[in-house]
Amino acid sequence: MRYLIISDLHGNYEALEAVLEDSGGRYDQIVCCGDLVGYGPDPNRIVEWAKVSLFAVIRGNHDRACCGLEDLEWFNPVAQDASRWTMRHLTRENHEWLRALPSGPIQVNGFTVAHGSPLDEDEYVASLDDAANVFDYLNGAITFFGHTHLQGGFVQTHGRRVALVRPRRDEPSLRLRLDSEAVYMINPGSIGQPRDADPRAAYAVFDSEAREVTLCRAVYDWQAVRRKIEEAGLPPALGQRLALGR
Ligand code: ZN
Repeated sequence: MRYLIISDLHGNYEALEAVLEDSGGRYDQIVCCGDLVGYGPDPNRIVEWAKVSLFAVIRGNHDRACCGLEDLEWFNPVAQDASRWTMRHLTRENHEWLRALPSGPIQVNGFTVAHGSPLDEDEYVASLDDAANVFDYLNGAITFFGHTHLQGGFVQTHGRRVALVRPRRDEPSLRLRLDSEAVYMINPGSIGQPRDADPRAAYAVFDSEAREVTLCRAVYDWQAVRRKIEEAGLPPALGQRLALGR
């Protein structure tokens, strides 16, 4: 089975469209590690798409915040503004659908899907030190997670832990062959707001039979999204950061 693994769409429909086109339908199912909404100008379009397209999905912290399940005090002022904007613009049906999303981690056909870490959906696993605290508690050899918006992740093999590399700026993708002895935490990266200094939308394709994960990047029209963010009255900083991938 081939899975399109996606995360952190954050209401960015243009980036999602680019990922779907770039992946060319070379997958059987789509699995999402959370944060469909928050920050971006198209939360309803993203949720409408998610309802009919996703094989498995969990909630992220922004999904929770934008449907009233989270106290906004934990967010910085820009994220608070964007959450309130999203809350006002979500249709009642989409609001209810987001509220009903399960929290991670969940098991999907032999692998784990989490938003932050499998121990805590809000925990950022951004460094090898962060990952070291999590590896002992993983359920199974492969966990996909999001939340940090940093494509890549970590592998533990024979007691040694290493960070996985992502495609360079001049590469469209990078293939990883999974070692059957190793344990992986893999972050497909963020579709809607990458923060690894690469503005291209990030995703992964997991081939469970071949035991391969391909980390991919898709160019999209971030200028169009920046304009939409400004026209919608969302904080302009949210559009500016798309250009930088920060
Ligand atoms: Zn996110």
